[in-house]
Amino acid sequence: MKFNLSWKSEENNDYSLFNIHYSIAKRMNIAILALQGAFAEHEQKLQQLGAETHLIRNLDDWQKPKDALVIPGGESTAMMKIMKDEKLFEPIKKAIEEGLPVYGTCAGLILLDDEHLGTMNIKAKRNAYGRQLGSFFTTDTFKGIGSIPMTFIRAPYIESVGEGVEVLAEVDGHIVAARQGKQLVTAFHPELDSDLRVHEYFLNL
Ligand code: GLN
Repeated sequence: MKFNLSWKSEENNDYSLFNIHYSIAKRMNIAILALQGAFAEHEQKLQQLGAETHLIRNLDDWQKPKDALVIPGGESTAMMKIMKDEKLFEPIKKAIEEGLPVYGTCAGLILLDDEHLGTMNIKAKRNAYGRQLGSFFTTDTFKGIGSIPMTFIRAPYIESVGEGVEVLAEVDGHIVAARQGKQLVTAFHPELDSDLRVHEYFLNL
């Protein structure tokens, strides 16, 4: 929220005007899906950036107010099953479709694709790097940020994107980060590196 406060100074009778700008940043509250996988690392990063966080394990947790959602890395098949068992699948899908900002890393990217929650116009290829190259580290360009560290763990990549999707990063010709409106996905894990810029990017979507 921004507002201007103006008043007249009568100190030397010149009635000069002062404008003071106050920026009052409301603390964002980020829900983190914590059914399985690497949710604690996201919690840490978002708190470092000044956001409040709460973990989602069931429908009660989901009812709490939130400004955005993080779907972490882990095992997409397990997460999908627990999400359905806990009756979270439909409410999460609906909230994202209605505009709730969401950030999916790795398995989270898979869950947002057209074969799972289906909120993003992307086709993910699971375990895309095969067994040999399953996990690796590299540094590459992220559009709007610059060069960032990228840690891949049995990662997917995005095989194809549809309308409305902006490609944000590619590694060796494969799409590894993309955005569609307020939905952000990365095939890699910024929560495992010390760099905060991708999380910051998400908070500013
Ligand atoms: N291989 C996992 C899957 O297919 C994703 C790995 C990860 O999230 N680090 O769901």
